Amino acid sequence: MRRYSAWAVAREATRYHEGWERAWRAPEPKKRYDVVIVGAGGHGLATAYYLGKNHGITNVAVIEKGWLGGGNTGRNTTIIRSNYLQDSSAAIYEKARSLYETMSQDLNYNVMFSPRGVIMLAQTEHEVRGYQRTAHANALQGVSTEFISPQRVKELVPIIDISGPRYPVLGGLWQARGGTARHDAVAWGYARACSDMGMDIIQKCEVTGIRQEGGRVTGVGTTKGAIDCGKLGIVVAGHSGHLAEMAGFRLPLESVALQALVSEPIKPCMDVVVMANTVHGYMSQSDKGEMVIGGGTDAFNNYTQRGSFHHIEETVRALIETFPMISRLKMLRQWGGIVDVTGDRSPILSKTPVEGVFINSGWGTGGFKAIPGSGFGFAELMAKGYSPLTAEFGLNRFAEGRFVDESVAAGVAH
Ligand SMILES: Cc1cc2nc3c(=O)[nH]c(=O)nc-3n(C[C@H](O)[C@H](O)[C@H](O)COP(=O)(O)OP(=O)(O)OC[C@H]3O[C@@H](n4cnc5c(N)ncnc54)[C@H](O)[C@@H]3O)c2cc1C
Repeated sequence: MRRYSAWAVAREATRYHEGWERAWRAPEPKKRYDVVIVGAGGHGLATAYYLGKNHGITNVAVIEKGWLGGGNTGRNTTIIRSNYLQDSSAAIYEKARSLYETMSQDLNYNVMFSPRGVIMLAQTEHEVRGYQRTAHANALQGVSTEFISPQRVKELVPIIDISGPRYPVLGGLWQARGGTARHDAVAWGYARACSDMGMDIIQKCEVTGIRQEGGRVTGVGTTKGAIDCGKLGIVVAGHSGHLAEMAGFRLPLESVALQALVSEPIKPCMDVVVMANTVHGYMSQSDKGEMVIGGGTDAFNNYTQRGSFHHIEETVRALIETFPMISRLKMLRQWGGIVDVTGDRSPILSKTPVEGVFINSGWGTGGFKAIPGSGFGFAELMAKGYSPLTAEFGLNRFAEGRFVDESVAAGVAH
């Protein structure tokens, strides 16, 4: 596949852009693959990419029931950070954050990584203590964060009201190299690289069954016919429970809708990402000028991939105290995705009771930031049966009561 470059753009400009190749092929499924990945979201595609790049496994199909990147990967608010409390979380999220730094070069695809900095506001004494503890843990883990004063928060975010009546800003956990990236581009960049390695990305093809013999996977049933495989990776976020049921086991997960919205575009007013977890809202400004706003999950289990009015009201009402200027903004559009949430708010990257079947799920409200690290570790687990990055995130931790508890530490995990 031809490399993208400034030279290629100049060349195409002289010939009406007629020479660009398709970014990825649209093949029909073969009868058999060494590895089948279900789900062409960021995690599925990154897994396929690292299977090829790091382990030389390229007889791979990624099967997607809709269009690639059309699940949560194309619906999130793109926050990237690695300031988690537990060592195993910090390791995988920091691996991911560091891979984001060079992703555009690695994939030869501009994913618009913008390390503009992320602040998590401390608006109660409890949060101050919690974030100071996280900053100390991060120092030991080699993750660069610091606890900053309210005045420093105000310098970084001039539009913020730090003296808010109910929840004044008492400080913040600041990660200067956190930020955002273009979510679609992450999926497209991986898809193009996988296709270039000879892998098949098969869209509009739903997996409807998982075939096994003697406790070992032999293939999948799909809307485009049966496909045999040696190993199967289930990477379907909010649909993980369904796929697990097809394979005959259960997952300790709940599926719920998570929503986000954007305002009309306005002049540049905020060049960092701000998360206000006490009032439960977070905000950044897109390159187009829209304020990108996210809130919490629905309080009941559901599979609704759309927004709802009460969420706009709840989320915006929560943020207005801290950002009074947004009360004057018109909201343009809202949407939702189905997220898969575990009890300890940490992911599942694991072997399963069916030999040859692996599961990558449970990223809940915060898996976009993890995509490259997750793909790196999960590919290693699928190829070799063990990865130091995923070792603590096995399904066995729920039976053994050995949780990687990020729920108390973060409360919210975007
Ligand atoms: C509103 C919102 C805001 C968010 N904000 C952030 C954020 O700021 N930062 C952050 O880090 N994370 C955020 N997240 C979470 C993040 O988006 C997800 O954790 C991540 O995108 C999950 O990626 P994935 O590849 O696992 O899943 P997905 O991108 O959902 O991909 C799974 C794919 O599997 C496919 N699939 C399902 N069933 C089948 C089947 N039977 N056969 C074939 N294909 C199937 C689906 O169609 C889908 O395309 C947010 C999520 C939402 C919804």
